[in-house]
Amino acid sequence: MIRAEIGDCTRCKLHTLGRRQIVFGVGNPDADLMFVGEAPGADEDVQGEPFVGRAGQLLTKIIEAIGLRRDDVYIANVIKCRPPQNRNPEPDEVDTCEPFLFEQIAAVRPKVIVALGKFAAQALLRTDDPISRLRGRPFDYRGATLVPTFHPAYLLRNPSSKREVWEDMKLVKKLLSEK
Ligand code: URA
Repeated sequence: MIRAEIGDCTRCKLHTLGRRQIVFGVGNPDADLMFVGEAPGADEDVQGEPFVGRAGQLLTKIIEAIGLRRDDVYIANVIKCRPPQNRNPEPDEVDTCEPFLFEQIAAVRPKVIVALGKFAAQALLRTDDPISRLRGRPFDYRGATLVPTFHPAYLLRNPSSKREVWEDMKLVKKLLSEK
């Protein structure tokens, strides 16, 4: 099991920087659709589950808007521990932790992966292209089709961008029905 392999992880410096627990990932281990965010925030660090705070509640609504339940999909982050003050993950932290996400992707074998926000999209696709250019486009990624979209925390600050996310989710639905 991947979770057992991670253990009580001390591989990167985040274990010394105040994280409470590893936030592994949650959902259907056989999901066709996987969401990948950036890193756990304060609520996730306490509860041990990704996307359970305000942004997470919006993510649940987005999932339900395409006719699925939160339990139908798989949800994870690029890194599994909360960075202090919610700063962006640093390159060494991503390099250390990302292989476990890759193992999760290989185990779940989703048809479609949605990268939530600039950080996840740029990290996974190894690009500096802005999220405004990346979002809504399908990319071949680790046996799946990856579609970047805006992060739900960004949508809480910029509700008018929900329109684009809805467009992106329509593409996701189409990709799920095709394959
Ligand atoms: N933001 C993320 O990117 N991931 C979470 O799990 C929560 C908030």
